[in-house]
Amino acid sequence: SVSLQGLTKSFGEFTAVRDLDLDVAPGEFVSMLGPSGSGKTTVLRVIAGFEEATAGVVRLSGVDVTRTPPHARQVNTVFQDYALFPHMTIAENVGYGLTVKGTSKAERVAAVEESLRRVRLEHVADRLPHQLSGGQRQRIALARALILRPQVLLLDEPLGALDKQLREHMQIELKQIQREVGITFIFVTHDQEEALTLSDRVAVFNNGRIEQVGAAREVYENPQTEFVARFLGLSN
Ligand code: ATP
Repeated sequence: SVSLQGLTKSFGEFTAVRDLDLDVAPGEFVSMLGPSGSGKTTVLRVIAGFEEATAGVVRLSGVDVTRTPPHARQVNTVFQDYALFPHMTIAENVGYGLTVKGTSKAERVAAVEESLRRVRLEHVADRLPHQLSGGQRQRIALARALILRPQVLLLDEPLGALDKQLREHMQIELKQIQREVGITFIFVTHDQEEALTLSDRVAVFNNGRIEQVGAAREVYENPQTEFVARFLGLSN
């Protein structure tokens, strides 16, 4: 689970995230939806530990990690520019986290196979990244993140670079994978369709705050503020 309490993040004079509360249950899929600059990525970076909270508390599975360095948190991140190592094979890319951890070769090979199977790309293990399509590279980035079995996976517009058709296909795959592995997903997107399709709950951001959080349908059917209604295109 992820719990944010009174989370504030300032950059100098500017406050990007303001006194924010959010609880995400184990295995839940929550989307953060909102206009550019509303603070979504900043929240992800604070959860991952890449940015230090100015005020407030971050808990993972009930443990206060507010001052814990990123590598010691059970969290992994997939960004839009899912850089794979260009000179390493796909199998080496996927297994990289385990290599760094010093996992035995036999264990690593088995884990890589399982991870590739999960994203249905067993057959590309020996290729190099440039020999894959954009969507395939995206799935590899996901496999690479999942192999470390994080409690929480943070995804920042991971499908943003894909064309519409591939994007829709990947949404279905992403949802399926999330159900299979039972990991908590926190997903940042501009795209309301995507948020609606994928998430158990949606948090609508505006100006460093959450305007409304609830089941996707509930937020759509019952927007609680003018901003939410307007952002979702439900009124003018
Ligand atoms: P987008 O959808 O465009 O990615 P976002 O909702 O994820 O936007 P953030 O990236 O969290 O928004 O940015 C929130 C605000 O904080 C923006 O105004 C941004 O300029 C500012 N900001 C983010 N990082 C820094 C930083 N390191 N220094 C100063 N300001 C920053």
